Amino acid sequence: MSLKADSAALPKDLKVGAVIVCAGNGSRTGLSYNKILYNLGQKTVLETVLDKFASSLVSSITLVIQKNDEKAIKTLIAPYENVSLTYGGNTRTESVMNGLKAISCDIVVVHDGARPFVRPETINASIMSAIAHGSGITAVPTVDTVKQVHSSRIVESLDRSELYNIQTPQTFRYEEIVAAYQSVSGTYTDDSEVYLKAGYVPHIVLGEYDNVKITTETDLTRTLPDNLKIGIGYDVHRLTEGRPLILGGVTIPHGKGLLGHSDADVLTHAVMDALLSAAGLPDIGVLFPDTDPALSGISSVKLLGEVLTRIADEGMYINNVSAVIIAQEPKLAPHILNIRASLAKSMNVSLDKVNISATTTENLGVIAGGGAIACNASCLLAKQQ
Ligand code: MG
Repeated sequence: MSLKADSAALPKDLKVGAVIVCAGNGSRTGLSYNKILYNLGQKTVLETVLDKFASSLVSSITLVIQKNDEKAIKTLIAPYENVSLTYGGNTRTESVMNGLKAISCDIVVVHDGARPFVRPETINASIMSAIAHGSGITAVPTVDTVKQVHSSRIVESLDRSELYNIQTPQTFRYEEIVAAYQSVSGTYTDDSEVYLKAGYVPHIVLGEYDNVKITTETDLTRTLPDNLKIGIGYDVHRLTEGRPLILGGVTIPHGKGLLGHSDADVLTHAVMDALLSAAGLPDIGVLFPDTDPALSGISSVKLLGEVLTRIADEGMYINNVSAVIIAQEPKLAPHILNIRASLAKSMNVSLDKVNISATTTENLGVIAGGGAIACNASCLLAKQQ
C-alpha cells in the first residue's frame, strides 16, 4: 500500500512526515498486549491508523514502538510503504522526541497510535493549518459541563464556551516542534503544551467527536453496534434416490440425496441466503436462478465463493455463522464436525466462527418421513472500520 499524497494540494517540495506513538500498553483496556495490536475486525488498530494515513497528505511515517512489539509490528507494516520504526522512551514526551529525531520533514504530524477512527480529511486539515499558521491541533468543543474538584468537592465551575477537548493529530512546522521539545524538560501529555511552553501559538483545527483514543475496555467495542448486521436464511430440498447427499460441501453416505438444480446443498444454500440478507443483497434465487443451465449440478460451495466476494465488496466480513439442519435421516451427529470444518474453510474463517446443529421433527411432517431436509441459518456480518 502506498501513501497517496495528493501533492497538488501541497506547496512544491514540501515534505510531510508523521510520528505515530505506539509505545503504550493494554493495561487500562484489560488487554495483556499493546492495544494497537487489538483486532478491530479484519484489521488491527495499527493497520487501521496506517490506512487512514495512507489516504492523507503524509508521505512518510515513523512509528515509535516498544522493543517487545517489534516483531508483531514489522509483520503488520510489511505491506505499507515509507513506514519506519524507532524505539520509545519511558514517557510519551520521550517517545515523541525519539520519533522527531528519527524523521526528517518540513511538516510533522504527531498522532496517537490508539486513535484509529481519525479521518484522512482531519489529518489533512491539521497539515494545512500547520502550513498556514505553524500548527494544527485537532480539538472538539467540550460538551460536558466541567468543574474543578478538590477532595470530592467542586471548587469552581469552568466556562464551557472556552473549553476544548484536545486530540491528535497535532501538526507542526518540524523545526519549531523540535526546537520546542529541546527547550523544555519534564513530561507532557500532549505536544501543543510543549509548543505553547516554548513560546509558539498552538492553532486549533476542529476534529470529530468519534476520534477517540482507545483507553478503556468499552472503547474497544464502542463502534460495533452500528456496524453489525444480522442475517437469516432458510431452505428445504426433497430427498430422493440416485443423488449424493451433500451438506456444507461434505458428501454424507446415505441411500438418498437432495434434489435440486445445483448439488442441492441445503445447508450451504441457507447460509448463503443468511449472508446475503445481512449484507442487504438479493437472495440466491435472484443471484443464481435455477433456470440458468450454467448452474446445473454446480457445487454450492462455488456459489458460496461468489457470495463471499459480494459481501467483501460491501466492505463486510463474517463475525459468525450458525445453522440448524432439520432432518429425520440420516443421523448427522457423526458428521457435524466435518461439516463445520468444511464450511469454515469455504468461508475462510476459523472453526469457532461456524456452528452447526441438527434436529429431527419429532415424527411430524414430510421431513419426519425422510422425504426432505431443511435448514435454518443465521449470521452476523460486521463492516470493516
Ligand atoms: Mg436451495
